Amino acid sequence: MNRSLSSRPARLVFLAFALAGSPAFAIEAPKPKAPEALPFEVAQPSPNLWYGRFGVTNCSWIDTGDGVLVIDTGATAVDGKNLKAEVARTTKNKPIRWIALTHLHSDSNDGFSSFLPTDATIFVNARATGILATSFEKGTKLPTIVGINDRIALVAGKRAFEIGVPSGNAHTAYDLYAFDIPTRTVFAGDLVTPDRCPMLSDPDSDLKGWIGILERLDTLGAQGLVPSRLNPTPAASAEIEKTRRYLKSMLGFLTEKKKQNAPEARVTGELASEKLGDYCPRELSAINALSVYRRILNDGTTVPGSAAGGPAPKK
Ligand SMILES: [Zn+2]
Repeated sequence: MNRSLSSRPARLVFLAFALAGSPAFAIEAPKPKAPEALPFEVAQPSPNLWYGRFGVTNCSWIDTGDGVLVIDTGATAVDGKNLKAEVARTTKNKPIRWIALTHLHSDSNDGFSSFLPTDATIFVNARATGILATSFEKGTKLPTIVGINDRIALVAGKRAFEIGVPSGNAHTAYDLYAFDIPTRTVFAGDLVTPDRCPMLSDPDSDLKGWIGILERLDTLGAQGLVPSRLNPTPAASAEIEKTRRYLKSMLGFLTEKKKQNAPEARVTGELASEKLGDYCPRELSAINALSVYRRILNDGTTVPGSAAGGPAPKK
């Protein structure tokens, strides 16, 4: 999500997941309410699995028995360092052997540099492998990077995961989800946005692709969902449906306006009377609508807005 569009303090409802959820999602160490935002807070919803808010971003880790899988690395180097320290503390210094990046928005993964150099294998959307491989500072020892195309089964230590990606662009050009099979928890990045507006302002965001990956996420039968921000939730299916409903409504509305060749002012004007989702403030929906309207075609497909987001050039 774009940092500038955050509309609520991240701390607000973070621990509500554990309170509202089943006993399996109990809090590891409940903290008294503090008026100031803590730099991070951590919960352990089930054995060997933790998630925490570091800065504004949720990051997660799983002790597989043979090393740790980390999902997302935080927004800043400080967040990344705090995350590393918490991983070491909670797993008694097990090595981080795998890192999965749900996408490359800075608020989700600019903390990645704090993990370098690393012997961990990095999982990203296959389309991001080039960007990632060339993003390291000169002289940095390169980690092993695995680009996911479609989905893989990862058996790590005593644990099995599915890691998958959309068939094209969705929230961004580089989305990825991880699914912990034993607890049926899906780490969805910004693809599902409980209590928050799905953001379509990335130049490569694509409504049809996003709706497609949500349909796939729904088939996982997840019983826990960890998004990039705000509260993780056991109500995975309901939250997937809420995000999907918003995106479908937006797709229908914008396709209709495109067919009418409506000017942008009319699009935003008429959008105000549409019921697109009770969790999207009107101004954020207007930003979403215009961002996509400028790139959408009559059939509802969108032209990627960045050179990196398009299909690989044919040689
Ligand atoms: Zn994002």
